[in-house]
Amino acid sequence: MANYKTVNPATGETVREFDTLDDAGVEAALANTHRGYLTWRNSAPQQRAAVLSKTAELYTERADELARMISLEMGKPVREAKGEVQLSAAIYQWYADHGPALLEEERLDVPGAEESVVYRRPIGALIGVMPWNFPYYQVARFAAPNLMLGNTIILKHASNCPQSALLMEEILRQAGLPDDAYVNVFATNEQIADMIADPRVQGVSLTGSERAGTSVAETAGRNLKKVVLELGGSDVFIVLDSDDMDATVKSATKARLSNAGQACNAAKRFIVTEDFYDDFTRKLATSFESVSAGDPLDESTVLGPLSSQSAADTLIEQIDDAVSKGATLLTGGKKIDGPGAYVQPTLLADVTPDMRAYSEELFGPAGVVYKVKSASEAVELANSSVYGLSGSVWSSDLDSARSVAADLDVGMAFVNEHGTTLPGLPFGGVKRSGVGRELGPWGMDEFVNKKLLRVS
Ligand code: NDP
Repeated sequence: MANYKTVNPATGETVREFDTLDDAGVEAALANTHRGYLTWRNSAPQQRAAVLSKTAELYTERADELARMISLEMGKPVREAKGEVQLSAAIYQWYADHGPALLEEERLDVPGAEESVVYRRPIGALIGVMPWNFPYYQVARFAAPNLMLGNTIILKHASNCPQSALLMEEILRQAGLPDDAYVNVFATNEQIADMIADPRVQGVSLTGSERAGTSVAETAGRNLKKVVLELGGSDVFIVLDSDDMDATVKSATKARLSNAGQACNAAKRFIVTEDFYDDFTRKLATSFESVSAGDPLDESTVLGPLSSQSAADTLIEQIDDAVSKGATLLTGGKKIDGPGAYVQPTLLADVTPDMRAYSEELFGPAGVVYKVKSASEAVELANSSVYGLSGSVWSSDLDSARSVAADLDVGMAFVNEHGTTLPGLPFGGVKRSGVGRELGPWGMDEFVNKKLLRVS
């Protein structure tokens, strides 16, 4: 795509357009971040921590402005957008607080030499390719640990979030980060491929679709560059039993509809044991019907538009495909009349493997319910997905829930909560959901040179 412009998804209006980089811009980004690395890597960890801490402070100070920008660019309701800004601030602050200790040398007790020490060193300039669904949070997960390490960054954001991308660059500079330690680029996919191949770049982290991840990883592989990939998910919400179905349904509604359903780790498949299926399904459909859509810039709005008209069209096609092949539409299933990329909260049942909704990620406010006879059948269905990002298990019997959670082929398993993201918890998946981990100490363990020094 890479036609950088702000289009308000609530109205379809084009607000602002930007030129893409020219050849000189590509070379400048590479040269500057490489030069920046040679200096930034030698800065004291406490100095880097101070920049991150100041960044966190500025995110908090400028929260309203930041939140309104993503509401405008990708349609997130402004109240949720403020939550994303606070989470991003917390991530910068977490690495400011913990980063210096995580960089301390590790003395090994290995015989035969005077000393064996492992130092954690940066590796160089990195490329971040980031998506529109959480424009600040996704960048924070990548930028905070890597700037803390002493790496530098070329950031290619989604083409529908150019102004949010510029704000992030501005804030890092305002926080005291040298200009050449983080460079935002409005680059095409081909320019990104050329930059990945350039010897001055040492790695690339991408959050987005499998299609984009495959393309970037192919280029990186051919050029022997390290990758981290956070891709899609078709995460399960498994209800074994419930002694408070209203509360379980409330959590399920949030797990599916937050951010208009556009989260890699949103609950997309609800798998319910047969004794609880009818009650859960009826209440979830009613709950979806009670959620009304509104202007993302209005503080009271809970459900905004999808990020673009094409995203809404794709979701409707997936729903229509399922219904035409015999799925039951329990509620929703249509575009909401009027301007904007709005889709009704939708619930499907009787979905079978021949339907797109069975195997594809539903990246919007549409979920599927499945009835199972037992916990083991729930696990089998959950693990039949090509994805393995996260999953949650709901039950008042914690031992049973723990045992089901243990059997899920995912990077993150939860009991009686769904999709919690905190700066100190790891984030990432297995199978086609991606490679590597972000956040916490794990996020500083990807683009790092664990350098041995042995002195005899
Ligand atoms: P993309 O994966 O296309 O976009 C994510 C980022 O990757 C954007 O910056 C995009 O740039 C960039 N990109 C895409 N292709 C390439 C490439 N070949 N080389 C370099 N960069 C590339 O997501 P879409 O917006 O198309 O969304 C499609 C689907 O992806 C969603 O429906 C959802 O399933 C999944 N997705 C998952 C996300 C997650 O959080 N895991 C986030 C977003 C999407 P540009 O905008 O210029 O195309």
